[in-house]
Amino acid sequence: MDYKNITIAGSGVLGSQIAYQTAFHGFNVSVFDINDEALQAGKNRIQNLMKRYQKDLSASEEQVNTAFNNINFFSDLSLAVSNADLVIEAIPEVVQIKLDFYHYLGRVAPEKTIFATNSSTFLPSQFAQATERPEKFLALHFANEIWKNNTAEIMKHSATDMNVFNEMIKFAKAIGMVALPLYKEQPGYILNSLLSPFLREAQYLVVNGIADPETVDKTWMIATGSPSGPFAILDVIGMNTPYNLTLAAAEAGDIEAAKVAKWLKTEFIDKGKLGIATGEGFYKYPKPNFLEPDFLKN
Ligand code: NAD
Repeated sequence: MDYKNITIAGSGVLGSQIAYQTAFHGFNVSVFDINDEALQAGKNRIQNLMKRYQKDLSASEEQVNTAFNNINFFSDLSLAVSNADLVIEAIPEVVQIKLDFYHYLGRVAPEKTIFATNSSTFLPSQFAQATERPEKFLALHFANEIWKNNTAEIMKHSATDMNVFNEMIKFAKAIGMVALPLYKEQPGYILNSLLSPFLREAQYLVVNGIADPETVDKTWMIATGSPSGPFAILDVIGMNTPYNLTLAAAEAGDIEAAKVAKWLKTEFIDKGKLGIATGEGFYKYPKPNFLEPDFLKN
């Protein structure tokens, strides 16, 4: 693999993590954000990550400092990408913002540069034409807290060059990820393609009065040996995301989803029970019932 210089566009939650993970694995990293204020916020996020790498990965002070010194910060895109082998885009999940970004990036980046989007919900084909180099464009999708949750879903669109796809698999491995190739476009990649219907059906079982959340989780945990069930997973995700998803489905005419949305709003969100983040969701934290030794016995 010939990649040496990697530019990360957007230094928010995910962009800062991708930048630091890439620098930690020895690449030259350039971070681009819209202005000095956004860059300073990104720099602060990265400095907080340094502590997490020491705590979670037992990284030495020297290692975390060397990684930080591998990063340069830019508010001018053409400077940020002037020698980039790869640009990883982690800017807001808004179609027009991404389209404008790719139009401009396609003009200022060198011909050799490969572009990858970290978008969670859009398909690469939506932006492929805007890049003006569809064969050098694909999705490279990380999970939050990438130094621990180290999946990289690598997804082609129909015009992505197979060599570019294979190089991206190598790059993902080179920054410590487990590379998960997707050979065709799929909304939600692999993880959310499995997780979304799983969580949706669990919620339907409860709002339709068929079983309570603890029984649903217990069933899943005993029968599959899984360490947690769908409602424990929802507590990790927090109630806002499933609420927004079911509300959108309800507005499109889904009656079951409307019931779930109303239930999540009145029973959880309005009562401040957003999940682990607020100390209570379907379970109470830090000692949720499903972790009690007797939970699976009765
Ligand atoms: P965020 O809001 O935390 O960060 C976005 C960053 O982009 C900010 O620093 C902002 O200043 C910057 N920005 C805004 N407009 C820009 C532009 N035109 N050019 C360059 N930078 C610009 O967002 P995030 O949560 O890091 O999400 C970024 C992308 O990563 C989205 O596509 C999202 O779907 C994806 N993603 C997020 C998560 C997650 O858990 N947050 C997980 C996987 C993928």
